[in-house]
Amino acid sequence: MRLPIINTKFSRVRLTRSNSSSFSLRLNRSSSYTTNEALNVLKNHFSPAVGRSPKGNNIVCESASGSWITDVSGKRFLDLQTGIGVQSTGHAHPRVVAAVHEQMKKGAHLQQNCMISQPMLRLLEKLNECTPSGLSRFFFNVTGAEAIESAVKLARHETGRQNVIVFNGGFHGRSLTTLAMTSSKTAYRVNYGPLPSGIHVAKFPYCLHCPGSSGASGGCCGDALESVKTMLKEQTSPSDTACIVIEPILGEGGYVLPPKGFLKALRELCDQHGIFLVLDEVQSGVGRTGKFWAFEHELDDGVVPDILVFAKAIASGVPLSGIATKPQYMQKSPPGSMGGTFGCTAVSAAAAVATLETIQEEKLLDNATARGLQLINGLKSIQKDFPNHIIDVRGRGCMIGLEFGHPYGSGVAGNVTAACMEEGLLLLTTGWRETIRFIPPLVITKDEVDFALKAFRKACEKVLV
Ligand code: PMP
Repeated sequence: MRLPIINTKFSRVRLTRSNSSSFSLRLNRSSSYTTNEALNVLKNHFSPAVGRSPKGNNIVCESASGSWITDVSGKRFLDLQTGIGVQSTGHAHPRVVAAVHEQMKKGAHLQQNCMISQPMLRLLEKLNECTPSGLSRFFFNVTGAEAIESAVKLARHETGRQNVIVFNGGFHGRSLTTLAMTSSKTAYRVNYGPLPSGIHVAKFPYCLHCPGSSGASGGCCGDALESVKTMLKEQTSPSDTACIVIEPILGEGGYVLPPKGFLKALRELCDQHGIFLVLDEVQSGVGRTGKFWAFEHELDDGVVPDILVFAKAIASGVPLSGIATKPQYMQKSPPGSMGGTFGCTAVSAAAAVATLETIQEEKLLDNATARGLQLINGLKSIQKDFPNHIIDVRGRGCMIGLEFGHPYGSGVAGNVTAACMEEGLLLLTTGWRETIRFIPPLVITKDEVDFALKAFRKACEKVLV
């Protein structure tokens, strides 16, 4: 049956039969969805399994530019969520926009199994320039989880071993293997089991909550390292252990830095037993910490991974992920043993090259360091005014966490981020403890950091007193 066309304030609308029992309005619209309309569409057609944060966040984005997003009502928000650490060059950076636009005109996909694209060649050379210590061979995927799976596959293939050691509080993805590697929150796992075997979870050195330590700035008691060593004796023999996978800074697990020397000790342990060290820099990479890669902060201690995993910020919002490894690895992998339809499309490669060039030419690593320091210092001064609430401000570059001392489930971090949203500042919580993370774009300015600090202080005054 041909259904009638009706006129609405938006445009002409044809009624369609969307399923056997109901009709829905399909709008051939040129104007934006209002908040109510958007919520209605989501309610009817979108998976409720996708959460949105902060609490009460019904922002319907009209446009985004630089450090700001504008909603359909014209309200502006300073974006310190950056799509969970993706928009490091800010939203719609002109250089990235131009690169994507130009490449679309010359071919969007140019599939890696079917031909060699110019942008992919440029990206390989650019990544090689930006990645120190002999990590000169690359392989591409689309998402962070997929790239982690590639890292595990490569480690297994090279070592001929099966097992993987990860750390509690880690987040490595939501595919089944990476979910088995993820322990930052049980919510991700409930009812999705059984998960693949061969994953062993060691203790991450969260010094602030470690009874053996004198706090975040105190020395490490060595307990976490001991837990890995014990694991190699009790659960997975070195001869069965392909790799140790760790985030140099816990992302979804609370923005926690391991104490100095921990990654070095893991490197040494891996060397001793022929185990691969895999650094998951999906969140900490691509300039976030003021260096291209977070592990570079410990290069002098010899901390270089066998496999580095990157995603999120690499292409400023165009999906791309991958791994970097040493040239001696991957030689055993026969053609066809790894791949993927959308690994390194021409457009994603062009966006990635533009992203890396922007970081270099606009000196965004220096900016991340300077603005990160401004933000940390400002948050520490707010902490002084709320000493009974804020127990820690920590981070590196523009990867900053602020933890409240409130008990699990009190919701204070969520309430403060919701109050920040009312002040025009977008933030995210992290981990199961009461922690807020600040993930500004690397292009953020001094004035914008001042705006963020003012808004954050106001939100604390509303919620904490
Ligand atoms: N590793 C880390 C450290 C992450 O933060 C994430 C995403 N939050 C992932 C892996 C998974 O990335 P994706 O969501 O792109 O699969």
